Order: sequence, then structure tokens, then C-alpha cells
Amino acid sequence: MRIGRRAGRTIVAAVACATALSLVSIEGQTSSASTAAPGQAQARTQTQTQVLNAAQVAGVSKGKAPRKANKARRGGKVAYLTFDDGPNARFTPQVLSLLKQYNAKATFFMIGSSAKANPALVRRVRAQGHAIGNHTYSHPWLNKLSAAGIRSQLTRTDAVIGRTTCMRPPGGFVNNTVRKVARSQGKSVVMWSVDTRDWARPGAGVVSRNALRPARNGSIILTHDGGGPRQQTIAGLRTVLKTMTAQGYRFEKLPACR
Ligand SMILES: [Zn+2]
Repeated sequence: MRIGRRAGRTIVAAVACATALSLVSIEGQTSSASTAAPGQAQARTQTQTQVLNAAQVAGVSKGKAPRKANKARRGGKVAYLTFDDGPNARFTPQVLSLLKQYNAKATFFMIGSSAKANPALVRRVRAQGHAIGNHTYSHPWLNKLSAAGIRSQLTRTDAVIGRTTCMRPPGGFVNNTVRKVARSQGKSVVMWSVDTRDWARPGAGVVSRNALRPARNGSIILTHDGGGPRQQTIAGLRTVLKTMTAQGYRFEKLPACR
């Protein structure tokens, strides 16, 4: 299943990585807990994120459910951990060893320039069985770029990390041009349903609570393994993995990302 390609949809929430912007758009209605700057507010109106709930994202509630999602429906629960803004020489290895400890798979939305600086880490993420998505080459707000600019950001990143089937726009800023370019490259636009807000560094306890409280079967959980100090993310992740595993969750890579 290709998230976002079917009916050209994009998923769930838009919250800026490393900004104060917070936005959740549900079924066309927008509620905002934003402290965004004027430019961000403008970007927000352009985001127009059409929403699927996380179960739909995972293919759980629709007929075309992937095998893994069907498995989840039959029994255990599944959650999708996603890590943006890496790879990072210090933090990505810590994330990888924690994931390994819990036999968890995840999806890493990598920045092309960071991947270029850490090629061994890209290989390690793949070798450990995780999925890799495209998070642009230099992390610009894509809704500010031309189609050619967006294309270049995605193509240059794929040149480093290999061809990707999914992308996540920095800050969650998408518009029709972004969707169109992504589609033309065979990439699903993948957002998230649970924001840990780890980018705001609120403390490891808050990071884990932000993940655990709203988490349910099919949740796509947003965290970061790069783009700043991520000790809180690592500590929060440990709690999330431990708690959710005990609750019967399995952690899978996103079906849209290979
Ligand atoms: Zn990002």
C-alpha cells in the first residue's frame, strides 16, 4: 500500500520539526495550538492536510489492508515509530540499539546532506531492517519552493540514500505542488498521528507521555534522531518501547516506505 497515493491523500497532522508551530487538521477542520510566526501561519493555511486516521494509514480499517495490518486486526497492536532529521553520528546509533533491544522496526526520514555525511549509518539502518524515507536534502519548507526546487531536494536525497517510496515534508508543510512532485517520483507523502514534541525538548518524561497517551493501534509516532540534542528523545523512547511492548504493541516500519 502506498500511503497518500491512493486518492492523493496526505495524512493526519502537521507539526513543525524544530519550530513552535503545532497544527492538527482533522477531516478538513483545523485546530491549532500554535505560537507560529506570521510566515508559519501562512504556511499553515497552505498545508490543507487531508486526514486519514492512523488505522487507515496503516491500512487497518480499509479493504486494501496490508498483511501486517491484517495481522494487527486479528490480534496484537502495531505502532509505527518514525525518526526525522538524521542520521546523526551520536544519536542514531543509540536509537538503533534501543530498537534492536525491543526487536522493533522503525522508519527513518533522513536528510540528504546528513546521510551524505554519515553513509555508514545509512547502511546500518537498512541492515537492521528499518525503512528509510526522504526528508529532503537541506530541510527547507517545501511549500516555499518551486516544483523544480522540490524535485531537486528529493532527487538529490535519493541519490544519497537510494530510491525511496515515501517522503515527509520538513515541518509538515505541504501543498499541491509538493504532492504532485512526490507523486511523480512514486513517493507517498507521510505525516504522523502522534507528535512527541521531542523537538521542543520538554523533558524525557513529557516526550514519553506525549507518545503513550494518544497512542493506539496504527499510530504513527513522530520523533527525531537528528537536528539537535536528542538525549530526551532517547530516554523517552526507552520508556515508550518498554511500556508499549508490555501493552502488546509491535513496532513495524511504515508499509508505504521501503
Ligand atoms: Zn524535519
